[in-house]
Amino acid sequence: MYRINDISLAPQGEKKIKWAKLNMPLLSDIEKEFIKTQPFRNLKVALSVHIEAKTACLCRLLKAAGAELYATGCNPLSTQDDVAAALAAGGINIFARHGVSEEEYERDLISVLEPGPNIVIDDGGDLAELLHRRMPELIESILGGCEETTTGINRLRSMKREGVLRYPVIKVNDAKCKYLFDNRYGTGQSVWDGINRTTNLVVAGKKVVVAGYGWCGKGIAMRAKGQGAIVYVTEVDPVKAIEAAMDGFHVLPMEQAAEIGDIFITATGCKDVITGPAFKKMKDGAIMCNAGHFNVEVDVETLEKLATEKQEQRPNIMGYKLEGGKWLYLLAQGRLVNLASGDGHPVEIMDMSFAIQALSAAYLAQRTDRLEPDLYPVPEEIDNDIAMRKLSAMGISIDFLTSDQRRYLDGWLT
Ligand code: NAD
Ligand code: SAH
Repeated sequence: MYRINDISLAPQGEKKIKWAKLNMPLLSDIEKEFIKTQPFRNLKVALSVHIEAKTACLCRLLKAAGAELYATGCNPLSTQDDVAAALAAGGINIFARHGVSEEEYERDLISVLEPGPNIVIDDGGDLAELLHRRMPELIESILGGCEETTTGINRLRSMKREGVLRYPVIKVNDAKCKYLFDNRYGTGQSVWDGINRTTNLVVAGKKVVVAGYGWCGKGIAMRAKGQGAIVYVTEVDPVKAIEAAMDGFHVLPMEQAAEIGDIFITATGCKDVITGPAFKKMKDGAIMCNAGHFNVEVDVETLEKLATEKQEQRPNIMGYKLEGGKWLYLLAQGRLVNLASGDGHPVEIMDMSFAIQALSAAYLAQRTDRLEPDLYPVPEEIDNDIAMRKLSAMGISIDFLTSDQRRYLDGWLT
């Protein structure tokens, strides 16, 4: 069962998946274990994650572990059609196409829910929203969900606060082995990969403004510095602002940064971070892009209204001419630049993130009791297990506490 753009692309997608798999030792090991233990036998899993090669490896693992899997994307622009074709050709139920409209995107989400899932794997909470708002009759059979990203957890937290959350969700994003690596090093590298390959411009010597100094912003700023940029940070959290300053970056409000920057990158999870007044102050040729969850961080609607002319410069670069004649450029329509204009995070990063997804989903599948509807941390054993597996894959050994040292650390007498 599938709804994709072009099945003839399958061989090309298969090559991408094979390369990813070669570099995903954690997921490969877990797959071998799960083929024996079949944790998802007789369970239906609905998944909404960016459909590209690394996600394909997670999909295949879930199927090999016994799941009846229904998969779709989590962003209208991040699906790679060749990968979706390879998954369809391999017998995975997939509903994902690159460049769909909002309506088609929602249709695909609904298609993965219609069979009535037992486990829901979400990246951003779109499946959770649809289930609660439009398909509540399906919630009864749900054992639980796993949420991949910061914004998804914020949305679920708000559902819990309002008393509407009806199934338990594991906060995969908040595992140490997720946000410390995926959000920081993954976003740090892949956002620049997206910008560099899309613009083909030099970064050294440019003034780069990073909005938001959370885990993603830290990674983006660090890699901007590494490429020789002069880095500016905007924040609303005073503590994060101090961190940015002590990490050696200029901290200032967006209003001031607007006049300075050559490249602007938002990573806040908030909305209206770069808006009309900033567009008016920006230099001719300024480039903007977004790395946060939704396409609302750069106020594209206002940009469209202010523009007297609009022209595509290169794939994924839209030029907007403003009154007075200056041009501003927006990458990937203001959607996540690393995924809409690149391959997303590097393979080994997604190996860790998806290993946590696989173990967390299996944890939900194998519980004999039913968890209350709430948000739950990834069990510490899983986080530590992933860390040890990753160290082993990297060929790194560490020390272990002796029982005497452990007693010393646990005690209070000197
Ligand atoms: P975070 O909570 O660690 O950081 C967000 C930061 O933005 C905070 O420090 C906050 O104070 C700041 N902020 C909020 N509103 C702001 C505003 N108006 N102006 C300036 N700063 C503001 O979150 P995170 O883990 O860094 O994630 C950030 C966003 O990126 C989320 O939407 C998340 O879902 C998304 N994300 C994207 C990718 C990707 O692949 N592109 C990966 C992981 C997370
Ligand atoms: N639904 C959102 C997606 C949030 S993107 C949207 O509207 O676009 C943020 C998440 O994407 C991160 O938490 C990260 O784990 C995930 N991600 C990054 N690169 C990826 C990749 N190559 N494949 C799959 N997921 C990826």
